Parts: sequence; structure tokens; C-alpha cells
Amino acid sequence: MTDLLIVGGDVVTMDPARRVLTGTTIAVSGDAIAALGTAEDLRARFPGAREIDASGCVVVPGLINAHQHTTIDPLVRGMIPDDIGAQESIFDWIVPLHTHGDGDDDELSATLTAVESLSRGVTTVLEPGTVAYPERVVAGLSAAGIRARVGGWGWDAKDVPFSAPADEVLARQADIVRSLPTTGPVTGWVTLVGHDLASDELFTGAAELAERLDTPLTWHISPGPADAEAYDRRCGRRPLVHFRELGVLGPRLLLGHAVWLDDAEVDIVLDTRTAVAACPGAYMRLAQGYTRGSRHAELVRRGGRVALGCDAHNAGDAPDVLLAAYLFTALERDRDLPDPIRAEQAFALATIDGAHAIGLGDRIGSLEVGKAADIVVLDGSDPAWTPRGDLARQLVWGHVSRTVRDVLVDGRVVLRDRRPTGVDPEALAAAAAERSTALLRRAGITPRPTWPPEPAAPR
Ligand SMILES: [Zn+2]
Repeated sequence: MTDLLIVGGDVVTMDPARRVLTGTTIAVSGDAIAALGTAEDLRARFPGAREIDASGCVVVPGLINAHQHTTIDPLVRGMIPDDIGAQESIFDWIVPLHTHGDGDDDELSATLTAVESLSRGVTTVLEPGTVAYPERVVAGLSAAGIRARVGGWGWDAKDVPFSAPADEVLARQADIVRSLPTTGPVTGWVTLVGHDLASDELFTGAAELAERLDTPLTWHISPGPADAEAYDRRCGRRPLVHFRELGVLGPRLLLGHAVWLDDAEVDIVLDTRTAVAACPGAYMRLAQGYTRGSRHAELVRRGGRVALGCDAHNAGDAPDVLLAAYLFTALERDRDLPDPIRAEQAFALATIDGAHAIGLGDRIGSLEVGKAADIVVLDGSDPAWTPRGDLARQLVWGHVSRTVRDVLVDGRVVLRDRRPTGVDPEALAAAAAERSTALLRRAGITPRPTWPPEPAAPR
């Protein structure tokens, strides 16, 4: 890979001093940031380097999405109706769709999610494991050039689809992690569905497996109050108290959600340094009572490890981390509590603090020499940037992800002038439309459009 200069932008480094370097050039060599400085100096140091003109633009670290489902949902986005309950959406939509989805669907869904994510400045996506064909998902994500972690389905609850005994689930999880690349932008991790859908044996086995494979792990817990009620019935204690008793918490674990926590559970998350992925868009769309139950802002204020996520295409609906940052901040401010979350804190969750939460803080999340060249150029000529105000506030409150122009991951240009470089967007759109129709047909689902409304049944 030849060297590359990103010339003359206003660089939001997110380094420890939170420096903003105006009119600064970034030199990229191989997969890493080699230098920051003046164009003149860096042209002399890196003769023959290709150049991207970023003058007048805002340059930020690639954004991190710590909870993003990439399979099936992207092909049926916006189709699950708002006016049905959780049970109906699971058993009339999710289960038949996942039952009838094939490897081609998984790969295409992943590519679609990756391209959409990159176009919003998201360079890292953690797939929390509703994946039937992990190798195909890796292929789909890799084609678009995004950084990712991928795992496979894992639960052992009785009477649920795709379930298996704990030892089988663990053997498959081990196979998946071992079969996927261990270096490069896309690697494997251990993924349980979580909630109340895993036995104690599976939780402890997964934690031991992640330790043995030296990989992170994730599962879902407590997006709403239902999981706490289920654990109360199951073992007479709150979920996080139960996990602590099992010995499965710790820095290696990223909990999806952990919204509804009581005081003791907040302390447990902080004491064990367990990480949390907060997906505010999904909690509102699915009516989880986020503003009533959430302790996420408290976790942030007390130094907890929190990253942002966007969940699925029929929950958070958009793999757009700056939108998640906006929602996270806005919802917390509206609660009118002391010391409200500020824009710069939310932008840190989307970048350097999110990177630390997912265990990659030494590699991504800020623009510093030696770090991976995951870089986003925001088009400064867009009206959203006119005039230029306070960068931290404009980045979060201005919903500027629509101004993403160029994106690099590991030094590779994966979006240039708003077009993906790894895949043909027109062919991708055509394939997605075709696969969506075919998948719905195989699953026996006829989408019910909102407009025009169906005529009322005759009385
Ligand atoms: Zn999820």
C-alpha cells in the first residue's frame, strides 16, 4: 500500500489532550497513522504519496458501533409493524425470517450494513451474534472494508428455535472463533444471545472459553425490565448479581444494553469493569422505558466502560453512531438531572471511550501516530458546517453523519466522495431488493404497508 496524505483538514484528534489541529495533514503509511503535521513537511517526508484534499473539512476518528446486528434485518428494514407486540414480532417475523435466511442472505445483509455504516462514518462494528453463517458475514463485511467482530448464534433455552445443549453451543462458538481470521480488521468473538435464554452452565462455559481463546465476549441483558423479573423467578436475584455469583463478569465481557439496573447492579458493573453497549434508538423504538430505567449516564459519570450501539434494522433502525450519540445525550439532558451529559462526552463514547470499552483503545478511537488509520473526512462545504461553530457540539447536535465524504479503515480508502470503493452500490441495491422479496416469500410473510391504509373490515 502506498503512502497517503489527508491534506489540510481540521483534525479532531480525541487524543488525551483533546487537541484540535486546524489546517493539518495526516500521513498514513500502511495501515497506520505515520505523522501529523504541515502539508509541506509531510510531502517532503512521504514523496510520491497519494493525496486526499481535506481543506475546509473536519477530520475525525472512525466511529465505533459496539452493538449492531448485521444479518436478515437489513433485508427487511422498516417492515416489522409498530403496532404489534414483542411476541408477535419474534414469532411472526424474526423466527421465520431467520429460519429461511441462507448464507447468501447473511453475506449480502452484512455488506449492506457495512456500506451503510461506513457512509455514516462508522468504521468498527461489533456483531452481537444472531448469525447463522459467520464465514459469510465475515466475507460480506470484508468486501466493504469495515473493521468488525463476528460470532454465531448461542443459546440453550428449551423450546426456542436454533437452540442447542450448552456443550454443543460452546463447541460451535469455539469452532467459529478458531475458523475466523485472528488478525486484520475482521476477527471472531464469543457471542451468546443472553437475556434469560442461557443456562448457568452456558454462561460460565462461554466466559471460560473466551478466556481460553483470549477473545472478548458479549451477551444481551436488561434492555427493559423483563430480564430482571425473569431472573427473580429463576434464582431470586437480579441478573447482574447472579452473573457476579457465577464469576462471569469482568473487562472481557461487553453487555448489550444493561439499561434497567438497580443500585447494586450499577456498583457491580463498575467494580468488575464490565463494559456496556448503549443503544438508545432501539430502546425508544421498542418502548423499553429508557428514560425511566437507564443508569447509563451514571455509568459514564462514574468512569464506567460505555460504548454506543445501534442494534438491529427493525430496532435502532440506522447504523448511525452520531445519531446514537445525539439520542444518548438528548434523552439524558431531558431528564433534568444534575451534571447532564455533554456533547463532548457523547462524542468520546463514539470514539476513544468506546474504543477503550471494547478493548481496542490502544489501536483505534483517536487520531495519533502509531494508531490504526481509521479516519473519517466530513465535508466542510456542506451547509451543516456553515458557519463553523464549536466542533464538539456541532459533531453531536448537528447530525453531521450525513456529511461523511471519505473513510479509511486500516489505511485503506473504503469510501471516497461518498461512494464505497469495495462494492458496486448499484449492484448491491439491486441484489438487496431481489433477496428481500425472495426471503419474504420463502418465510411466508406478506408485508403490510402503512400507506394506503387497509380498508376497515365490513361490519
Ligand atoms: Zn441486540
